[in-house]
Amino acid sequence: MDGYQDLLDRSIEQARPVLARGKVADYIPELSKVDPDLLGVTVVDLNGETISSGDTNVYFTLQSIEKVFALIFALELAGADRVFELVGMEPSGAPFSELSTLGEFSAKPSNPLINAGAIVVSSLLTTLISFDEFLAQVRVLCKNPAINCNEAVFASEYAHSERNHSLAWELKRLKLLVGDLDETLRFYTRSCAISVCAEDLARFASLLAGGGLDFSSGQRVISGNAVRIAEALMFTCGLYDGSGSFAVRVGIPAKSGVGGGIMAVVNHRVGIGAFGSSLDRNGNSIGATAILEYLSNKLGWHIFSHGN
Ligand code: GLN
Repeated sequence: MDGYQDLLDRSIEQARPVLARGKVADYIPELSKVDPDLLGVTVVDLNGETISSGDTNVYFTLQSIEKVFALIFALELAGADRVFELVGMEPSGAPFSELSTLGEFSAKPSNPLINAGAIVVSSLLTTLISFDEFLAQVRVLCKNPAINCNEAVFASEYAHSERNHSLAWELKRLKLLVGDLDETLRFYTRSCAISVCAEDLARFASLLAGGGLDFSSGQRVISGNAVRIAEALMFTCGLYDGSGSFAVRVGIPAKSGVGGGIMAVVNHRVGIGAFGSSLDRNGNSIGATAILEYLSNKLGWHIFSHGN
């Protein structure tokens, strides 16, 4: 990755001025305490070569990025047919926790990367694995055994999760919750509170870039089918109702979380973890988006790139 260090350093510096246009998530009280000026990016190639710039060892919570892990585990354990009986594969065109669109176009959540869809997937997972097994798998895919759940963020969000409770009750009414409602919400909220750094996200993303194959060990860790489904949904739905503009500006599959992380994939090349806790109005990291847009332009990452 010749020249990457310099580009990563510059991507951080050019992103700094946009931070003031956003703000940290405050609907989860514990998240409002995070420093809005943090910025970091790590790129990992298929062989594990790692280049970082900025605050890449600072821990933040996965939040909605957990939806990619949950989707992959559900696909592997229950199969795609079962997962898509319960949840759709279309962009919702609505905020991530929207209640009004639930059941509007079909009798299930639009996709697994919005809250309603992820709650359904979590409910399915509660019937298949424990939260500790979920966490153990996240550690394996991020190649970091030190990853843990931030219990303070979990408690803070759970105490303020009226919207997710409403979604869960509506999903129960629609007969889409296959597990217990309280257990589902705890599982979902706890997985959102798993704490990672940009390097962890980049390592996971590099596995997706390699189609689920870990090139350093030669082992398949995720099926190619699960990676294809996850990447397709990340590209079309990964940034909620900001997915279209992200596709135009950056043009690679990605998933954001209100903790400030964005995990992104350049197929067959690299995985990226970008972090900046200041968010735009859709709840996507404003700094991480600016970093990724800069790098995508400089390195020709856009999947529809034809040069200038
Ligand atoms: N835990 C958050 C929630 O359920 C995740 C939302 C997000 O990251 N967009 O509201």
